Order: sequence, then C-alpha cells, then structure tokens
Amino acid sequence: KLFNELQELKGNIRVYCRVRPFLRGQGESNTVVEHIGEHGELVVLNPTKPGKDGLRKFRFNKVYSPASTQAEVFSDIKPLVRSVLDGYNVCIFAYGQTGSGKTYTMTGPDNASEKDWGVNYRALNDLFKISQSRKTSILYEVGVQMVEIYNEQVRILSTAQENGLAVPDASMYPVTSTSDVLELMNIGLQNRTVSSTALNERSSRSHSIVTVHVRGKDLKTGSALYGNLHLVDLAGSERVDRSEVTGDRLKEAQHINKSLSSLGDVIFSLASKSSHVPYRNSKLTQLLQSSLGGRAKTLMFVQLNPDITSYSESMSTLKFAERVS
Ligand code: ADP
Ligand code: MG
Repeated sequence: KLFNELQELKGNIRVYCRVRPFLRGQGESNTVVEHIGEHGELVVLNPTKPGKDGLRKFRFNKVYSPASTQAEVFSDIKPLVRSVLDGYNVCIFAYGQTGSGKTYTMTGPDNASEKDWGVNYRALNDLFKISQSRKTSILYEVGVQMVEIYNEQVRILSTAQENGLAVPDASMYPVTSTSDVLELMNIGLQNRTVSSTALNERSSRSHSIVTVHVRGKDLKTGSALYGNLHLVDLAGSERVDRSEVTGDRLKEAQHINKSLSSLGDVIFSLASKSSHVPYRNSKLTQLLQSSLGGRAKTLMFVQLNPDITSYSESMSTLKFAERVS
C-alpha cells in the first residue's frame, strides 16, 4: 500500500533497470556491474578508478540481472499491462544505447520462439486472452497500430486489414488471436524493411511504437471504457561525436537527441509535479501526450550493456534514469 502511495506521489512513474548478459564470445570479467540488490540497488564501478572511489550507487524500482528471463520480466509488468483493460493509459519505454538490449526486451531476439518473446508479444497476447475471458460481462475490442518516428517524422507501419473492425483509424489492426499478433508484428517489420536497406542501422535511429487501443463495453450497464497501451523501443541514446559526423547523420543525431531529452523533460516534470509539462517539444512526446501524466502510468526499462567499454554510455544512461525516477 505504501508503495502504491509513493507511486501516486511520483506521478505513476516506475523505472526498471535491466542489465543484459555478455554475448557469446565476450568474457564475463570485464563488467562494470559490482552489485545488484533485491530492492532495486545497482552498484557500478568506474574501470579507471578501481577501489572504493570508483563505486557509484543507484536505486531504481527494480534491477534485473543478466540471468533474468523474458517470462520473469513480463510477470512483473503484467498488472500494469492489464490495467489497460480497466481504462488506464500506459506507456512502456525501453531506453539505452544501441546494443544494450532494448529490442530484446520489447520484441525479443530475431526469430524468437515463444519462450523468448519480448514484452510486445506477451502484452498483446495477454490482453486478448483476458479480454476473451471476460466476454460474458464486458465486450472488448482490441486494435493495434505500429508507428515509427524517424527524423521527427511519423510513419505508420501497420496497414489496415480489409473488413477490419470499425475503428476510426484505418491503420488500426484488430487482434483476436495469437496468430493475429504474430501476423501484425510481421507486417510492421516488413514495412520497416521495405523502405530501408540497413534495417538495424535505421532501427537504432528511429523510435518504434506499438500502440494498443482497447474499447470495452459493459454488457449490463452499457457504459464504455477506453484504454491505451504504448510500447516504445526508443532510438539509441548514444552520444554522437559532432566533430565526426556531418550531413544526414548529424541531422539524425540531433533529432534523436532532441526527442530523448524532451522525453526526459516531460517525465521529469511529471515526476516533480511541475505545473508546466513541455509536451510540444518533440513528435514523440506529442504523440504520447494523452498517455503521459494524469492518471496514466509510465514504465521505463533502462537497458545496460555491462561491458567496461560501455562505461561512459552506461553512466549517462543511468543519470538519465536517475533524473526521471
Ligand atoms: P538494442 O535494441 O538496444 O540495440 P538489442 O536488443 O538488439 O539491443 O541487443 C543487442 C544484442 O544482445 C542482441 O544480439 C540481443 O539478442 C542480445 N541481448 C540483449 N539482451 C539480451 C538478454 N537479456 N538475453 C540474451 N541476449 C540479449
Ligand atoms: Mg534495437
């Protein structure tokens, strides 16, 4: 109960840190992570300052070790996801430098089997299953839209299904089964690939957003409820050396920088109960405005690559996270 009240005070913002494992071929010895506690503690060691002086402590709502599984992560956020069916608006973000595991957490690895599914698949699957199980009392319609923001331009990746359900937006895709979920994710991926020769390159420089719209009608009273879930795989947060890039690459970097710092500013002003929330400063925050603040709930996965070579990027990721948590 106390925890819930604290969350209320902080504007319903939670920050979960996830440390990805070393990949095959990388040693285990070069980690900057000294300690992960049961209650959200994280201790990081500066590789150039071994000893007590190089230790830095952080505290988040939760920290996942490299051994954590996709199922474990989802079971923690399931109540948050399900609250959409009760009419809440929810945003779930993955933040971190390229290679830190954002896409792994949100989508899963390439060609994932069910056990490796990320948050997106699990959330959609769970929502349509729970909505089916309630269908004698509440009739739900679940529609999904996929969007990419690249260089401050919004592009819709999900295309309308012929004879789709009657939602106002033609790009809304109805989900009524697990195979619908898989099909939809594929459509989004294909649309992303078609326009891009280097998918990975591009995807690390764009924000990708899966939006789930839920409409529920209470069969007894006739009253309606609406909820939204936004699942956001953010562009890589790594800083780009301005002396080394020019032209398109510099423009991309500036757009990313602007939208990530706008997001930070919005969440920070919500967390600190500021009277002015600067939603208008980026496409990302404009698009998500109705789901950030008010009764809406926000969860940020802060992703870390534990390798010592990523130390300074990890520190800037952690400082961003500390500011909004
Ligand atoms: P990002 O989207 O932040 O650029 P990715 O999600 O693509 O990073 O992760 C980089 C690499 O690390 C990928 O090969 C991914 O499969 C792997 N990876 C990330 N997180 C995990 C994890 N928790 N368990 C196993 N492999 C992971
Ligand atoms: Mg990615």
